[in-house]
Amino acid sequence: MTTTTTPPTRTGLLVVQPVKRRHCAECRGGPLSLLVLEEGTPRCLDCADLGHLVFLPRGDTALTRRSREGSTLSAVVVRFNRRRGRYERQGVLVEEAALARAEERCLADAEARRRRRARDARRRAAEDLRFTDAFAKEIRRLFPGCPDDRACAIAGHASVRGSGRVGRSAAGRALSEGAVTSAVRAAVRHTDTPYDQLLMSGVPRHEARRRIAPTVETTLAGWRAGTGGAPRA
Ligand SMILES: [Zn+2]
Repeated sequence: MTTTTTPPTRTGLLVVQPVKRRHCAECRGGPLSLLVLEEGTPRCLDCADLGHLVFLPRGDTALTRRSREGSTLSAVVVRFNRRRGRYERQGVLVEEAALARAEERCLADAEARRRRRARDARRRAAEDLRFTDAFAKEIRRLFPGCPDDRACAIAGHASVRGSGRVGRSAAGRALSEGAVTSAVRAAVRHTDTPYDQLLMSGVPRHEARRRIAPTVETTLAGWRAGTGGAPRA
């Protein structure tokens, strides 16, 4: 970082936000909020032929770049930071028409981004539907006795995007038998057994799992054999 006590020299016009009260050496106007130093002499923007430019504060990189590109005449605005002992960029002076055009292009970009996000969301929704469908098919292949509505519900639940459930894990994506079975087992546990009630009544999780294990395995065995989910314990 360059530390300098005079405005940095660089290509292009430089305009200074004065820290002290300064007046134009030519028209005596002032105190000036912006001035140009010509060989150390302050001049107001009008006397420096920059009065037609508008100030665009720093912060929006794309808008700044486009405004400057579109301006025949532009200037960088700096202000001296006493604490840091150097001049710091505050923004630019650009032609108003160029700023307006730049704003339109940035708005168009924002609109384009919004439309792209909407397209992406639609594509992801379609992917989710295809994935859920494939998941349900795999459930029915492994568990022919699983009712269709249950298979659809389990697949839909397992593939909720971003849920971190088994359906979205790598194994679930690959529709591995282990992942599908794990999703079905979890559904049976919560839907076909008093597991949730046991947890709610304060039964420790491992004890609850132990109590319902026979029902879960019987139901899974029944669905695998294609004979339906009625426990036959
Ligand atoms: Zn002046």
